[in-house]
Amino acid sequence: MADEKDQHPATVAARALGAVDAATGAIIPPIHMATTLQRDANYEKPGGRQYIRDEGHAFLQPEAVLAALEGGADALLFSAGMGACTAAFHALAPGDHVVAPDVMYYGLARWLEEFGAHWGLEVDFVPAGDLDALAAAVRPGRTRLVWTETPANPTWTVTDIAAAAEIAHRAGALLGVDSTAATPVHTRPIALGADLVAHSATKYLNGHSDVLAGALVTARDDAVWQRIRRHRYLNGMLPGSVEAWLLLRGMRTLFVRVRQASASAQAIAAHFAGHPAVERVLYPGLADHPGHAVARRQMQDGFGAMLSLCVHGNAEDAIRVAQGCRIFITATSLGGVESLIEHRHSVEPPGNATPANLLRLSVGIEETADLIADLEHALAVLRR
Ligand SMILES: *Cc1c(COP(=O)(O)O)cnc(C)c1O
Repeated sequence: MADEKDQHPATVAARALGAVDAATGAIIPPIHMATTLQRDANYEKPGGRQYIRDEGHAFLQPEAVLAALEGGADALLFSAGMGACTAAFHALAPGDHVVAPDVMYYGLARWLEEFGAHWGLEVDFVPAGDLDALAAAVRPGRTRLVWTETPANPTWTVTDIAAAAEIAHRAGALLGVDSTAATPVHTRPIALGADLVAHSATKYLNGHSDVLAGALVTARDDAVWQRIRRHRYLNGMLPGSVEAWLLLRGMRTLFVRVRQASASAQAIAAHFAGHPAVERVLYPGLADHPGHAVARRQMQDGFGAMLSLCVHGNAEDAIRVAQGCRIFITATSLGGVESLIEHRHSVEPPGNATPANLLRLSVGIEETADLIADLEHALAVLRR
């Protein structure tokens, strides 16, 4: 039997590292609800752990699975994706300089503006995916963290992770990658040079729109990582035991879910490119997407299950299309087995850069033909 490092990540995920409960032989681990652990006969902490907030015995297996899937040295679960992303910034010190993209997860951009800057971080936003702008923005010796998200919501702008890592490292900074949309199925940022990988585990890792959780994975167990661990402990940023268990269960089907959804997204993108009701399709798997060449290099097994359709018309037309869907659900978020459609422009504050005619699709695992037919039917409202 090949050991884990010789197994394909799909095998590692399906088996969740194969732990069998020693007490019962159960092939699925129990849910550990206990918040505290009894000291052993020598009055030592069992496994060095005593209380759920410090080392989180309920989180060990999902963290080990995620570290294995990302090829990292260690992983930590958080109470939400936002907790994971902001932990990477909280490990820095006031006065530190960070660089972040102008196209990124909306909540983290707001946190950087409203709290990161207030708390003393110096934040520069650069055009997403623009390596020259990134190279010009980093300050050797001053920049501590370069943040990227690829493909980035909602235009699915692609950043060359290997090139961004080189720029960050040359300046003495770490590279953090929000890989929520790519998932470990399509991209393994650490192998490309990233130092930290963030996930909203609420999305694809869990995959069933019923858990709020986040995760960070590190390339090295170093002083920065220990500070992040300490931040999680002292700020109490942990998920519940049931959430951790559900996440472990969700990750078992990560590869089949994401491969199916990505194949559908590619088919939907190809179908609606050049469609009379559609101005353009934003999807890294299309040859005309500006990030396609880089995506081909750093993504495998497909280009993800997120895409955006810019319809011919204005915001009201786009919303009418969303409302005309019967399978795509008009809801925010992404990464579940059910397909979602959202008009991002009206969700973000006035003056945002998201095109008013853009509809963001999170493609689920329904039959591809049904999804295409649903969008065809909904787009027909524009002809009336
Ligand atoms: C949803 C999301 C987050 C935030 O995750 P929560 O679990 O909602 O806190 C961060 N980054 C990306 C790319 C996301 O889609």
